[in-house]
Amino acid sequence: MDLLFANDRQGALPPSWYAEVTPPLAPFPALRGETRADICIVGAGFTGLSAALHLARAGRSVVVLDAHRVGFGASGRNGGQVLGGQRLDQIALERMVGRDDARKLWQIGLDSVRIVRDLIEEGEISCDLQSGALHAEWQAKGVTESHDYVAYLARHYDYTQAEPLDAAGLRGYVNTNVYAGGVIDHVSAHLNPLAYVSGLARMASAAGVTIHEKSHVRQVAPGHVTTEAGTVRAGQVVLACNGYLGGLHPQTAARVMPINNFIVATAPLPRGAALHSRICAADSNFVVNYYRTTADNRLLFGGGESYGYRFPRDIAALVRRPLARTFPHLADVEITHAWGGTLAITMNRMPHFAQTRPGLWSASGYSGHGVAMATLAGRMIAEAIQGQTDRFDVMARVPSPRFPGGAALRWPLLVSAMTWYGLRDKLGI
Ligand SMILES: Cc1cc2nc3c(=O)[nH]c(=O)nc-3n(C[C@H](O)[C@H](O)[C@H](O)COP(=O)(O)OP(=O)(O)OC[C@H]3O[C@@H](n4cnc5c(N)ncnc54)[C@H](O)[C@@H]3O)c2cc1C
Repeated sequence: MDLLFANDRQGALPPSWYAEVTPPLAPFPALRGETRADICIVGAGFTGLSAALHLARAGRSVVVLDAHRVGFGASGRNGGQVLGGQRLDQIALERMVGRDDARKLWQIGLDSVRIVRDLIEEGEISCDLQSGALHAEWQAKGVTESHDYVAYLARHYDYTQAEPLDAAGLRGYVNTNVYAGGVIDHVSAHLNPLAYVSGLARMASAAGVTIHEKSHVRQVAPGHVTTEAGTVRAGQVVLACNGYLGGLHPQTAARVMPINNFIVATAPLPRGAALHSRICAADSNFVVNYYRTTADNRLLFGGGESYGYRFPRDIAALVRRPLARTFPHLADVEITHAWGGTLAITMNRMPHFAQTRPGLWSASGYSGHGVAMATLAGRMIAEAIQGQTDRFDVMARVPSPRFPGGAALRWPLLVSAMTWYGLRDKLGI
């Protein structure tokens, strides 16, 4: 099944709350015939547009191709959380790659939030950026572990922006009794992702990047990229397709698996009904619940399990279950928008960066941590193409195992693992 077309109409953004409130970008023309560029980028999300912008600013000619529209993929429909650090904690990373590289990965994690803030400022992107991200623990054991980790970061990484919260402290932010405590990070942030990715497209276009929408890439070969209606001849190609890569590059697909996730928006709520301030939150469930409020006090709540590549018929009903478990007093709240999206995970939850042959670059598999990291990934690819490979190499050195079972069996294996972990979330074990 081709996830590029399985759940959406070609060339249309999903029916998200973002699509309703974000001023639309004028369409970019489809590729027709043959053209040349220094670099051809497949995918107009955070990864592709950030790479394009930074390459164009360095004087390179760049063509970006997207099968649908700018921000059609996960970048235009996600939870909007701009999370610092890496998807794995530093203790796990130190074990995985050693102290030196773990330190470099920590710095890259900090840089990822910085670049988002800088681009928003430079491009004057109006995307409702708000600071503060809370991590909420369902179990007391998790609270102890997360507070120990805050102390570890302060001691070993000099990081003092994470603040431990007990259950009462957490209730100062979130209007529910279900959590045992947590941590608030003051550097992380959240934003309207469709407004942000549209802003990146405007900046890229202003820097000289040529963007083609409705241009489905069918083949990537050394020196050229082919769509149904044209060809781009380019010495360097960047695959920025994340969960929508499909069969375009089997070597990457063996390490990066698509998975769907879902979000709802409620009708505007009374102040304080869900959150007492405009921070965002995510919880300790294996199938993570994440949420925040909008300027007009809607609750945007993401979560819910679905183990098929087609979106379920009733996304609102699916997401209402974890929403009601988190906020029992909102169990019957009016849901006005419900949508799904495809992200990509890896075996060890660290993104997969690779130069698979000279001139072919890719970064994907951000495992739900891609708003900040994909933006920086684009920049790191742009640096690497210009010969400055230090940061790209740190990311590429992180082990990136293949999924067991290969393309045929990885999905059933994932379903059984997810069903087991989803059950553990429900039982609270
Ligand atoms: C519901 C949901 C919630 C999420 N919440 C968060 C969050 O709160 N915080 C966070 O950090 N991360 C979150 N993520 C993950 C984050 O959105 C992604 O990691 C990030 O957007 C990846 O960006 P990207 O540019 O690599 O890929 P995408 O934005 O998916 O872009 C890939 C693009 O490639 C195009 N494409 C693919 N194949 C082809 C082809 N053959 N020809 C032409 N074009 C092609 C697609 O059309 C698409 O536009 C979430 C994801 C989802 C789905």
